[in-house]
Amino acid sequence: MINIPKGTKDVLPKESYKWQYIEKKARETAKKYSVKEIRTPTFEHTEVFLRGVGDTTDIVNKEMYTFLDKGERSITLKPEGTSAVVRALIEDGLFNEALPLKLYYITPCFRYERPQAGRLREFHQFGVEVFGAAGADVDAEVILLAKEFLESVGITELELNLNSIGCKTCRAEYNEVLKAYLRENQEKLCPLCRERMEKNPLRVLDCKDEDCRLVVKNAPRILDYLCAECKEHFEKVQKLLRSCGVQYKINPDIVRGLDYYTRTVFEFVSTAIGAQGTVCGGGRYDGLVESMGGPALCGVGFGLGLERLLLLTEKLGVNIPDENALQLYIAPMGESAYEKAFSLAEELRKAGVSVETDHFGRSLKAQMKYADKLGAQNVVVLGENELASGEVFVKRMSDGQQVKTALNNLKEYF
Ligand code: ATP
Ligand code: MG
Repeated sequence: MINIPKGTKDVLPKESYKWQYIEKKARETAKKYSVKEIRTPTFEHTEVFLRGVGDTTDIVNKEMYTFLDKGERSITLKPEGTSAVVRALIEDGLFNEALPLKLYYITPCFRYERPQAGRLREFHQFGVEVFGAAGADVDAEVILLAKEFLESVGITELELNLNSIGCKTCRAEYNEVLKAYLRENQEKLCPLCRERMEKNPLRVLDCKDEDCRLVVKNAPRILDYLCAECKEHFEKVQKLLRSCGVQYKINPDIVRGLDYYTRTVFEFVSTAIGAQGTVCGGGRYDGLVESMGGPALCGVGFGLGLERLLLLTEKLGVNIPDENALQLYIAPMGESAYEKAFSLAEELRKAGVSVETDHFGRSLKAQMKYADKLGAQNVVVLGENELASGEVFVKRMSDGQQVKTALNNLKEYF
């Protein structure tokens, strides 16, 4: 037997309806906010992510699926969505379109990580990116969109964590203060943080190591160092969220895992799925487009992990409806009934009804069992009597109730 690669998953028929449902909700939510879909390739030139994600991140340092293709080009499977969207935005000149440009994607992502619950090597993200508007209202709108999507799937108990990590100017000042503090506490940091504190001290704030957490607890806070513009921007974001009745928590330790963020950063976090509790993370990334060779176009967005979202629906007992339920099973008995069932099934399918019938000449009892296994909502038995009278009983399986109707009225019945 050949096994599935570590950290990947099959979505089996008994689960796939859930994926279809959440993807549909994602698309519907995007539509409500006037956000259009963009699809980018599964792989890109490695440089896209080196530049886009940043070389002090876990993703670039340890997690990328990078290989040389047969033409000796360095190729990387998309570890996240934003950089690829920015590459497309620049290459296809999308910045010339009406601004702000609002885009979404549903994409597989690949990261070479240690697999565990909610942490896979291939996973999927619903992501939204808005380009070309610097105002706090876009930050708030993007957060509202994520929240609206989560609620549309039935998840209401996530905590919204909010922070601002300032702009180039005020963060530079803060970085120095933070570095000085971290140097003083160097010996208490994990080896990785000791290494990265000079290059990207903010990343230490995000470290999950317990000793680092202790150091971080007393570290100077970025919020105390924001410049006047960043402060005003952050306050406006909060004010707008409050005006829509959104609750949030200011969390000065969230800095996000990617290098490109500026100002607003946020996460939707759950305590119900353990360590992998961050379902959605996002923020503003005003320098990214320019740093990838495009015009000075600001941006804000989020990435939301769909596997973690599904995990959460299970943990919280949120019911996801199976919209693919079989509407009708036709159980034929006898040669002429079989012929009739075959063409009737096709006729009803053309009219939009989902129909299944027998393929094995099974007994009526076996067919009823089969219909039950398929989860058929209704069953019609078609025998000599029904053919002669032109009338059938539609049996509703949920409560066994039977309704008599003319055979050639079945289309209207459904
Ligand atoms: P974490 O801190 O859990 O590693 P991250 O900061 O690396 O998350 P992002 O790069 O912000 O995650 O990705 C956005 C979302 O994608 C996450 O909030 C999470 O829901 C999901 N995600 C990230 N990595 C994985 C993974 N390996 N498997 C499943 N989902 C993931
Ligand atoms: Mg990660």
